[in-house]
Amino acid sequence: MKFALATSLLLLAATSPSFGVESVDWIVTAKWVVTMDARHRVIENGAVAIKGSAIAGVDTQAEIARRFNARNRLDRPNSAVIPGLINTHTHAAMSLLRGIADDMNLQDWLEKFIFPAEARNVDAEFVRWGTRLAALEMLLSGTTTFCDMYYFEEVVGEVAKEAGIRGVLGETIIGFPAPDAKTTADALSRTEAFLKQYAADPLVTPAVAPHAIYTNSDETLRATRALATRYAKPLVIHLSETRRENEEAMAKRGASPTRALDALGLFTGGPVVAAHGVWLDAADIAILAERHVGVAHCPASNMKLASGVAPVSKLLAAGVAVGLGTDGPAGSNNDFNLLEEMDLAGKLAKVTENDPRALPARTLLEMATIDGARVLGLDKQTGSLETGKVADLVQIDLGEPHTTPLYDIYSTLAYAAKASDVRNVMVHGRLVVRNRAALTLNRQAILAKAAEYRAKISASLKTTPR
Ligand SMILES: [Zn+2]
Repeated sequence: MKFALATSLLLLAATSPSFGVESVDWIVTAKWVVTMDARHRVIENGAVAIKGSAIAGVDTQAEIARRFNARNRLDRPNSAVIPGLINTHTHAAMSLLRGIADDMNLQDWLEKFIFPAEARNVDAEFVRWGTRLAALEMLLSGTTTFCDMYYFEEVVGEVAKEAGIRGVLGETIIGFPAPDAKTTADALSRTEAFLKQYAADPLVTPAVAPHAIYTNSDETLRATRALATRYAKPLVIHLSETRRENEEAMAKRGASPTRALDALGLFTGGPVVAAHGVWLDAADIAILAERHVGVAHCPASNMKLASGVAPVSKLLAAGVAVGLGTDGPAGSNNDFNLLEEMDLAGKLAKVTENDPRALPARTLLEMATIDGARVLGLDKQTGSLETGKVADLVQIDLGEPHTTPLYDIYSTLAYAAKASDVRNVMVHGRLVVRNRAALTLNRQAILAKAAEYRAKISASLKTTPR
């Protein structure tokens, strides 16, 4: 009996076409598989095999077919598969304030619109729906990881998990009363609870997020560093976004924000994500390189608020990891579109350096993928298509007039592809967008709720003017 069973199993195995073939969950095929690995492999007629949450193989379609058998497939002959895009700086829930006030100076914008609108409207539910709206937009446009700084980040964490998007999330620590913390002590203890809650989550990396040098005391800044070090999590901070921030630091401390923060020890003890880095001099850049501080470059925000131009080419030449961020989107962008951000970063660098060779297309895609992962300290897990990394990937259609013809895949992706070309998106091995539709979030409910908030927020500004 035993012998007969073994014999028939052997016979079955020998005659089955899948003998010796590994079973996987997904095979995704495309005309171009753009790996963004260290060798910059671009595989024509390529495929990616995915098992569970991880990439099981990246190769030609023929080789993947020989090695793997998949339960599910995404075959799009005229598409590119790229690593999921990484947005290194957001305030996601502010999506509900998108376009509330544009084209005014920062102080008026903050004092007449953002601060009162936030004071009267921001609570946990606002953050829940605002983050859902942002996550919907990010996933549909190919973003699989975002680094956020706002309030009620535990709610942002819940939404990230519900949406199936990867997040590095930090509760804003700021030296005045905030919607979810009356004092910085409250904000610090909220942060510590958050660090514990998400200590080992596959999607959410908790971070410590002091707003900036000019909005926190030295004591608070040191406390944030101590927390980030104790829990071995990233520290996220705005750095030299405006000329005024630098002038104030020079007047008050006799040092640039970078030198002052370094003297306080903020850059030592773990990964740091510095947002903007517009007003940096050579000495600042040397410090950021030495301390391995990553920079979130936000070209649309810097242009729209007339903040200035970050010295990205100099940062890259010094070996600083630079990713792309959208910031905002209340009035500083006003969307979460990383394909557009690549295009803007390239053109901004070229026109300000008076050199069309500045930030070439492949560099821009690196900033949006593997270098963004380096900035967030996630480059061992994500940012490129490599066996063993988590399956965060995007399939982009290339059959539109604006992507035809195609001579160079990096050029098409950086300068011509649109967010609306994103067809399928997978995060951590889970398909979250299929045929341009979100599978994890209720689009209709989110858009309806955003319209409700728009009415409520407008009324709150009109009935109680400051
Ligand atoms: Zn910001």
